[in-house]
Amino acid sequence: MITTMASDTYDIDILSRSGMIWIIDPCYKLVLMGIMWYICGGSGLVTTPGYPVCVKGIIMKSQGGQLLLVFLSIIFATTVLAYKPGPDIIRECPKCKFFLKQHTMMSGNTFGARFWTDGKMIAQHNPDRPWLVKCPKCGVIFWIDEAKKIGQQKPWDEEKKWPNAIEPGPPTESDYLKLLNSKNLPPKKEIYARRRAWWAANDEYRNDQSTKLIFSEAQKANLRAMVNLLDEKDPAQRITEAEILRELGMFEKCIKLLSKPFSNESHSKVAAFIKKLAEKKSWKVSEIKLN
Ligand SMILES: [Zn+2]
Repeated sequence: MITTMASDTYDIDILSRSGMIWIIDPCYKLVLMGIMWYICGGSGLVTTPGYPVCVKGIIMKSQGGQLLLVFLSIIFATTVLAYKPGPDIIRECPKCKFFLKQHTMMSGNTFGARFWTDGKMIAQHNPDRPWLVKCPKCGVIFWIDEAKKIGQQKPWDEEKKWPNAIEPGPPTESDYLKLLNSKNLPPKKEIYARRRAWWAANDEYRNDQSTKLIFSEAQKANLRAMVNLLDEKDPAQRITEAEILRELGMFEKCIKLLSKPFSNESHSKVAAFIKKLAEKKSWKVSEIKLN
């Protein structure tokens, strides 16, 4: 079962807090089958392709029963699923040719994740895998999926073909701003780099709220440029734009933008949270806490 989610937007399962399952690999499926066996009283359990179906008790061998089973599986899966890495993709630094490893994820979820008004999510079971990275050897900045692919190795294997491969780190805030000032990027990449620069600008305060948060002219210019790239017709982008306006101290514009209704309940709740901050004339990034 695969569900998808955009970690860089507000299109997140922020309401349930139960954590969205991304991928269930076969061993987790076995755990789920065991749970369902227990629920069904340990008898009369038969398997259909992919899922067990209890023919006795509350869950009947029917389409409705199977749907219920899938639903229950999702709920129980969140309690047994943890982050599980997938194989590392080995790539070559485009400048110094050093071997770099790109992490992949076999399974993960957003259980216990923390969400902020600027769209950043920190999830223990869904670690950040940046698109734009920095080579730790030579310092060049590049898009990870554009670097030459050399091969693949499993992090849990004792004998690795590329034992010296290292993980590229994320660029710094000044790296993002330098890149944005040096060349024109396609809109998707520009939004990514501007968003990451924005998150970096908020990070010190995010991690320690006793620190002062005052945006420099370069940071404000980045936010203004990002507003120009966003499409208000897209609900998540409308929220992002409103949040930027709030963080720039443009509270009335922020409130106006969020006053138009959202069709999605999750967006409505996040929008209401941000609107309340704007009404209080609070301009700092804030962790989203919904009751
Ligand atoms: Zn390099």
